[in-house]
Formats: sequence, structure tokens, C-alpha cells
Amino acid sequence: MRLVDVLVIGGGQAGLAAGYYLRRAGADFVILDAQDRPGGAWRHAWPSLRLFSPAQYSSLPGRMMPVPPGGYPSAADTVAYLADYEQRYDLPVLRPVQVHAVRRGGARLTVETDAGTWQARIVISATGTWWRPYVPYYPGIGDFHGEQLHTVGYRGPEPFRGRRVVIVGGANSAAQILAEVSTVADTTWVTLRPPRLLPDEIDGRALFALATRRAQGGGGIGHLGDIVAVPPVREARDRGALKAEPMFRRITRDGVAWSDGTSQAADAIIWCTGFRPALGHLAPLRLRGRGGLIPVEGTRAIGEPRLHLLGYGDWTGLASATLIGAARTAKQAIIEVMAALGVSSGRGGR
Ligand SMILES: Cc1cc2nc3c(=O)[nH]c(=O)nc-3n(C[C@H](O)[C@H](O)[C@H](O)COP(=O)(O)OP(=O)(O)OC[C@H]3O[C@@H](n4cnc5c(N)ncnc54)[C@H](O)[C@@H]3O)c2cc1C
Repeated sequence: MRLVDVLVIGGGQAGLAAGYYLRRAGADFVILDAQDRPGGAWRHAWPSLRLFSPAQYSSLPGRMMPVPPGGYPSAADTVAYLADYEQRYDLPVLRPVQVHAVRRGGARLTVETDAGTWQARIVISATGTWWRPYVPYYPGIGDFHGEQLHTVGYRGPEPFRGRRVVIVGGANSAAQILAEVSTVADTTWVTLRPPRLLPDEIDGRALFALATRRAQGGGGIGHLGDIVAVPPVREARDRGALKAEPMFRRITRDGVAWSDGTSQAADAIIWCTGFRPALGHLAPLRLRGRGGLIPVEGTRAIGEPRLHLLGYGDWTGLASATLIGAARTAKQAIIEVMAALGVSSGRGGR
């Protein structure tokens, strides 16, 4: 059994941002990460992925992301940046350590892992969403004879050459995957709502500036779900490949069918339909509210004040699932964490 003041679960960008502020505050802490190497979810993204946020708007506190040619980092650039970051700030990341459960255990939270048990005064969960891909249910989904994959399984366009591919989803992943698959395959793009492609002059820079103004209390028209016209997406739009259809009603043995009776034959369906937060390790705390999320005030769980949630999405802080947003949210979270530790250290300390 090991004792620590603050235990961070997850060594992706959100966990590292927390680590930076904990280190600066002189906290006693450890970061447990399930993977055997740095980089979080970025290690698993498809090789041609370009961040929709340019390097200047994709940085953690203290160290700017190096600007690659063209300005938009790749997933590999981001992995290299995160690996360098944790080394530079000498962050105590233990890996691979998988956290199975967090339980209440007297004054401390008990954290059970495949490498033993820790007891922590504060736990920060920063486990991301990549590990819980979401595919919506449609009638017939189990009958489809073709291939189905989610964004997490996509590696590049080549396996789809010459095939008929339905791409589902209205955000940046779908648009970037469609842009390249449509160069080798016959694609059909379906979205729940008409996709919102930002004008060329509103690139990731402007979008993040808007998000920043919103975070500072100002107004803003941008939304991080909007599609940024990165160069491949722009090129696909210009050749007419970005025309979206409304959602189909059902899936058939060999394609998809709309409610007006029309249908489309397909060899493959790529679901770019997003993710859910990876919160299974927190199940013993029984904190989930409606919609499966844990109610929070800022980043602190309302039902368990010794637990903070970092990253995941807007519900734990504006744009907190992005690099720039994780940095902002972590700063505020660690101010609260340190205040809580200060108060409780008067009652007996570690
Ligand atoms: C396709 C795509 C494109 C994106 N593009 C951008 C962009 O352009 N700009 C931007 O800012 N953001 C972008 N994002 C959003 C965001 O930056 C990433 O999702 C990011 O990886 C989230 O970081 P995180 O630290 O919250 O989670 P993760 O990177 O998933 O890190 C979580 C870590 O926790 C570990 N972990 C999980 N469960 C456990 C457990 N039980 N025990 C121990 N460890 C555990 C994981 O192994 C992982 O290492 C994009 C996301 C996607 C999916």
C-alpha cells in the first residue's frame, strides 16, 4: 500500500497538464498511465491526421508545441511533444499501470491497479475518451455483410480503394477521413445535422481565439464541433466530395436505406461518431448522473469532493478535451486541489 497526496489517473495531455501545475505547487503526486509509452490517445490516431488546431493553439502550459511546416501538427508531432514535455518537467509518470477501481476508504481514496494499491487524499481522473468509441444503434446494424469500423480502427484510405464506403459523422474526424477516402473510393457522407464547414479564413487559429474569448467571458460564434477547413478538407470540398446526406433510417445486408425508400449499396461503413468518457474505474463510487456523466462543479465531483475530472469534454471545462483547454482547466483544478490539501493537512496531514 502506497500513500500519496494526489494521484492522477491517465498520462495523456490532461494528466500531464495537471502534473505541470502540481509540480509547480510542490505537491506530493504520482501519475499512473495504462500505456507503456507517452502520448495518450495520439499514439493511436491514423497517421495522416492533422490537428485542426495549429501548433500555437495546441500547447500545454510552459512549453510551446514546435511549429511544423504548414502549421498544423500531426499525431506523431503531438506524441513527440508530449513525450518531451513529461521528461522536461520530470513528471512522475508510472507506466504501464492500469487503474481498475477507485473506492472510498476512510479519509483517503483507495486506488486499485494491476501494480498494487495506492491511497490518495485527492484523485484526478484524466483517462480521456478514445478508449470508449461510440457507435449509435441503427436497425439492421448486425445484419450488414460488409465491413464496419469506428474512427479508432481507421489507419488510412488504402484498404478502401475501389470500394463503396459510407462515412457517418458531422465533425472534424469524419471530414478529414472523407477527404482522403474519397480520393480512392466511392463515398457517401451521412450526418445527423447538416455539417458546418467553417469558411477558409476561419481556420483553427480563429476558432481557438474564439474559444479563448468565450473562456474569458466574451461572446463567440465558433463552436469546436465545427469543421475546420484544413488543406485536405478544403481540397475535397473544391472537388465536390463534401456533399452530405441526411442520416439513413436502417442498415441492410448490403448497404443503407433512407426513410423515403431510397438506398445505397455499400462495402464498408466508417463510424466517425465520437466517444464517451472512460469512467469505468470510478464505478465503485456510484457518482454517475443522468446521461452517464458525473455531475461536477468545475472539475470537482459533486458527490465526492476528493475526486476531480480533467479532460473528457466541455462538461469538465470549456474545450477541456483539447490541448489548449486541458491546460486552462488543469490550472484551475490544481488551485482547488492545493487549497483542499492545505485545509485537510491541518487535520493530521499525510
Ligand atoms: C480524431 C481527433 C482529433 C482531434 N484533434 C484535436 C486538435 O486538433 N486539437 C486539440 O486540441 N484536440 C484535438 N482532439 C481532442 C483531444 O486533444 C484528444 O482527444 C486528447 O487525446 C485527449 O487527451 P486526454 O489526456 O484527455 O486523454 P488521452 O489522450 O486519451 O489520455 C488518457 C490516458 O489515460 C490512460 N488511461 C485510460 N484509462 C486508464 C486507467 N483506467 N488507468 C490508467 N490509465 C488509463 C490512457 O491509456 C491514456 O494514456 C482530437 C481528438 C480526436 C479523437
